[in-house]
Amino acid sequence: MRFGHRSVILQLAAVLAVFCAEPQNVLAQAAAKAIVLAWDGTVPSFVREMLRDGKLPNLAKLIDGGASADEVKASFPSKTAPGFASLMTGGSPSVTGISGNRVPRAPRRDFTILDSLAGFSEAPLQAEPIWSVMTRAGKKVVISHIPAFAGELSDQTVRFSGYTLTAGRDGIITKRAIQTEPQGVWTESPASDAPPVEITFSVGETRFYGLLIDDPFDSQVGYDTLLIATARNAREIKAKLKPAPASAGGELFWSTPVAVTMAGQEAKIYFRLFDVRLDGTDFFLYYTRPARDLPLPEVEVAPGATVRTFIGNGASILYSQGAFGRTIPNGGSGGAEARYLETVVMAQHQLMETNRWAIEQLPWDLFLAYTPFPDEAEHIWRGYIDPTLSGYKSELAAQLRPFLERVYQSCDDHLGLLLAKRPAETVVALISDHGMEGMNRRVALNRVLQEGNLLTLDMQGKVDLSKTKGALSGDQQWLSPDQLH
Ligand SMILES: [Zn+2]
Repeated sequence: MRFGHRSVILQLAAVLAVFCAEPQNVLAQAAAKAIVLAWDGTVPSFVREMLRDGKLPNLAKLIDGGASADEVKASFPSKTAPGFASLMTGGSPSVTGISGNRVPRAPRRDFTILDSLAGFSEAPLQAEPIWSVMTRAGKKVVISHIPAFAGELSDQTVRFSGYTLTAGRDGIITKRAIQTEPQGVWTESPASDAPPVEITFSVGETRFYGLLIDDPFDSQVGYDTLLIATARNAREIKAKLKPAPASAGGELFWSTPVAVTMAGQEAKIYFRLFDVRLDGTDFFLYYTRPARDLPLPEVEVAPGATVRTFIGNGASILYSQGAFGRTIPNGGSGGAEARYLETVVMAQHQLMETNRWAIEQLPWDLFLAYTPFPDEAEHIWRGYIDPTLSGYKSELAAQLRPFLERVYQSCDDHLGLLLAKRPAETVVALISDHGMEGMNRRVALNRVLQEGNLLTLDMQGKVDLSKTKGALSGDQQWLSPDQLH
């Protein structure tokens, strides 16, 4: 089941205009600074229900002390890249040039319909973004992971661009990694009340050696600890993990960032041990997507590892594939959702740590922050929660709803952090790039074109333009037979 799109800007998108206004504007004089947080893909009806139930205390506080707008229409199509391009410039997609998450590559005469650029990061904005306006006015801006093309930035602007730093996929290590061959000899083998069980696995080009041990300092009898090292040497241990079921506050159980080599470049991952069988015959170890460190500006206080090492998303792909266990829609009892939720909270926590540091340590007049939630979780679950869809099952919806609410609450925590950290005379605004609604059918337009002999695929399954009269490409927004060549 997939999502559809309905557009909404949640709250106070107009603050962006306040800072573009004339200097004599009352609001511009009253507030010296602004923090704008974007929740990606927020569903307004769901927010209203949660507010009514008192489940979004920070947003409630923001609304109480300010202004809000319901059912504001976002740009069309209501997708992330066009949404942010419009929010950051005030222009519609026909003005910004960002008409989809991928857009046709320009100049059009030099490229075919099959050539496209990412609207988040590669396709230049055709309208001036807020940070350029601010810079011209002598203001300093921090752009924290906003998914829009930044262009050339002045040294008055700091940009974190975490989504360009991802270097691989996240993954799960389980009992297949346990060595059935005689295990290697460890230098300075760690103390254990039971014979250590060795595991080996690789992430990118980095080989890891793990030991399941019965920690003498842990009262738990049985294998209660996983040590992860980059060699069979206790001095090379990079993480010491205790198993804990997924829970609120679960970020306490995550490792600090561990270096791996991906295609010759250093990246970092976080480990989380969700489970170990006390007899050492199985375990469940998750690691985040390898990401290169955020290049942070030099400041007096060296930022901690969590500040630097980007995660950016929860484990929605692994969850959807069933790799976290049977999902609720497939008859599971919520264990898979709890694990997925913890990956969401950890990704949110990491974004918050970077913002906490940047707000305190960097000079700024405008601070633009972003979280990919609730969008990611809405993509997975909205189709089960929307009661207007045929096939809706209220029992299923009731089971999934608390998990989706917790995703929204992690967004509310993010907002709460920014509210708590705001200096005096700072406007805080919350925006969203688009909404979402359930959808239970998908129309494969290229297939229709193919069946009508208007589109032909080559041996590799790619569109053969020489035998094609029409095709949809990129993220399938545009159909332009006149531009085929
Ligand atoms: Zn979005």
